[in-house]
Amino acid sequence: MANQKPVRLCIGCRTRAKTNELVRIAYEIAGESRSLVIDDRSVLPGRGAWVHHDPECLSKALQRRALPRAFRNQVETEKLAETLAQWQSENTNTPNNDESGSEN
Ligand SMILES: [Zn+2]
Repeated sequence: MANQKPVRLCIGCRTRAKTNELVRIAYEIAGESRSLVIDDRSVLPGRGAWVHHDPECLSKALQRRALPRAFRNQVETEKLAETLAQWQSENTNTPNNDESGSEN
């Protein structure tokens, strides 16, 4: 029980996963502009949606319009797709990151 991690539903494939396998998407309101941001530290307040670190899941989420539903609002998903794709490539371009050296 001690080490149990929280579990969230991926809005893409609709399966549950631990939050460390998912990335949080938060809805940021700054004045007039509303945008979706990657909240990879899960620190932003308000509503959030979770999706796997997988472009497949993101495109599924976009196809079924999961994001506007998750945020109960019109959201600019095109920009998010770009942002998230970039985030994902940055986070997968570090080979051996999880393979070793994390045991200290
Ligand atoms: Zn997924």
